[in-house]
Amino acid sequence: MIFFKECPKLKKCPIFLKSIQSKLIGKAYKSLYCQTMNERHLECKRYIASEKYKKPIPENILPNSSLTIEEIGKRIHADESNDQEYLGEMD
Ligand code: SF4
Repeated sequence: MIFFKECPKLKKCPIFLKSIQSKLIGKAYKSLYCQTMNERHLECKRYIASEKYKKPIPENILPNSSLTIEEIGKRIHADESNDQEYLGEMD
């Protein structure tokens, strides 16, 4: 029997709720990062940054972002001046 490990943030992850319009692309990200047999969510830039900064991650940051975690941290700080709706991604 095969067991998939789901990212604990999947149900509230805003990229699937708002950002990714294509079902095919969303499905590809889910199979590469969010629902895998080997906990690939631990390699997702959104997941790592969320765990590190405990803040909402900008919606345009994708799991395989070319930005470093520190660069994502700077984006988070820049976005804090905006009234971004928080969907509880860190839960
Ligand atoms: S994109 Fe990253 S943080 Fe969002 S559900 Fe997938 S693995 Fe988790």
